[in-house]
Amino acid sequence: MYIGIDLGGTNIAAAIVDGDGVIHERTSIRANSGGGAKTIIDGLMEVSDALLRGAASKPCAIGIGVPGTVNDDAGEVVFTPNLPLKNVNVTRELQERFGCPVRLGNDANCAALGEMVAGGAKGAQDVVFITLGTGVGGGLIVGGKLITGVSGGGCEIGHQVIIAGGRKCGCGRSGCWESYASATGLIRTAAEFRDSHPDSLLWETSGGAADKISGKAVFDAYRAGDHAAKLIVGKYVEHLSVGLINLINMLEPELICVGGGVSYAWDCLAEPVQAIIDAERFYRFSPNVPHTKIVRAELGNDAGIIGAALLGHSLS
Ligand code: ZN
Repeated sequence: MYIGIDLGGTNIAAAIVDGDGVIHERTSIRANSGGGAKTIIDGLMEVSDALLRGAASKPCAIGIGVPGTVNDDAGEVVFTPNLPLKNVNVTRELQERFGCPVRLGNDANCAALGEMVAGGAKGAQDVVFITLGTGVGGGLIVGGKLITGVSGGGCEIGHQVIIAGGRKCGCGRSGCWESYASATGLIRTAAEFRDSHPDSLLWETSGGAADKISGKAVFDAYRAGDHAAKLIVGKYVEHLSVGLINLINMLEPELICVGGGVSYAWDCLAEPVQAIIDAERFYRFSPNVPHTKIVRAELGNDAGIIGAALLGHSLS
């Protein structure tokens, strides 16, 4: 039995997970960061206590998925933009209390592992997982193993530049894929169409404010046949495809598994994205060999919990 914890900016969600990636019991609390690192660590203890109260045996391992960079060997969260954790050890107290290994992973890496064990990438050995959410995260699995880089900072695929000198990114560079292919990037693209298309359905949902629309509103308007939404989604597809083709040209993985909030609109994206990939990927002249498949993630938020739990499984 393993415990997987998804430490988010607003909630701490946790579950008991078995070695096949099946969730047996779950709990969730609000992430209280008011007291700094201590209240976050208290929260990790609280969810673990809640799950293990009355359990017949101690867990084989506890794993924590963190929205930021981690040093698993040191048990430290190195940096995370939305929580007060900078070079903080978050595993020691859990280890002492529960007497089992406690592992740390980046949340996108955990989700990649979860999808490979029990979701959209089940059975595949070479997978790139991408999340299209507030940002763009990535996880790389080669031969069934997570590849996290020499110090845990690898596969930050959202920060590959797709337009030199383009939009300013939160990381400090300009033109990162994340600035275009995230939900936030989609909304930035939509805002660029505000003045040229004042009659679009889109602005009705936000009282006329271009920056108050949601990613969902863009796809709803697209499905309703709105002209501006078609142009916006068309731009988004171009931006998304550039990064995907870069990944395919570099790695040619068996699968690219797409998760995150924008993936819920995959019905609007799959076909046009695939058409651009087929036309532009470097290795496109051999129709009879297997090519990288793009699939939608299946587990939603559970992927991160399952993958976090199995960080310990794969290492124990
Ligand atoms: Zn960036």
